[in-house]
Amino acid sequence: MNLEDHVPLSSGDLIQRALTHDGAFRVITASTTQTVRGALAAQAGQGEVARQFGDLLTATVLFRHTMAPELRVQSVLRGAGGAGTLVADSHPEGMTRGLIQLPQGAHTMDCGAGALLRVMRTLPGGKLNQGVVELDVGSSVTSGFMSYLQVSEQVDSMLAVATVLHGDEVVAAGGYLVQLLPEVGRGPLMIMTARLEDYQDISREVAGAQFSAAGLLEQLLDGMPHTVVETSPIGFGCWCSELRVISALATLPAADLRELMQDPEPLQISCDYCGKSYRIHPGSLQGLLSSS
Ligand SMILES: [Zn+2]
Repeated sequence: MNLEDHVPLSSGDLIQRALTHDGAFRVITASTTQTVRGALAAQAGQGEVARQFGDLLTATVLFRHTMAPELRVQSVLRGAGGAGTLVADSHPEGMTRGLIQLPQGAHTMDCGAGALLRVMRTLPGGKLNQGVVELDVGSSVTSGFMSYLQVSEQVDSMLAVATVLHGDEVVAAGGYLVQLLPEVGRGPLMIMTARLEDYQDISREVAGAQFSAAGLLEQLLDGMPHTVVETSPIGFGCWCSELRVISALATLPAADLRELMQDPEPLQISCDYCGKSYRIHPGSLQGLLSSS
């Protein structure tokens, strides 16, 4: 796949990953303003759900960078009572996309008791690894993701993400994830815990004119010797293609496929993630029938 056909990651959003020299912490920071703007523009999300969606995108991107870079990570948040779904999808090349699916007229997702967060990691060979947590009363995307990390991944982590809105405009978005590594000593842990008290809500930092992933990293690791081991661009992007759109139709019953093929006109199908429209010639569905 030629990624340049899909998205130039020139958004200016960056992700940085650092390790402290004492082996105590792995810290990942991200600026995701353009990424969230792009993904949100492709979905019809406004108000509170736009904030929840932005936060889920940022948390997913941060989580992907805690692991091997070739992993793809998808997070699916289902509202309490099964009402509504938010999806964040982070590709190894930095492309990030998402879906907002809410009941008609709804502008927010209930992240309280009964809401579910499912996180899936796909390895290059297609092997899938997934975990799920049920959220508690009064949960947010941030606290839900933290409990996922604790319960499912069993890694002590501190996560904070922010999506700052002005009306329906995304002013800024970003966040950080600090992981405690097995070598962490009592001293550094106490220092970091005290420091992160001031960074539980980072909307003010993220909305600041000078906000950057590098700047936030320096703030979090001030006075702690560390090495930046990764700096990568991220941005809104979709990896849909005509072939993928056709493959998605393979789930239809054969009778429905045959009916579609009767139509002499090309089928108009658009990608749910980015809205790109594909004209599929009915004849190209023949292959799906013979393989089913
Ligand atoms: Zn697409």
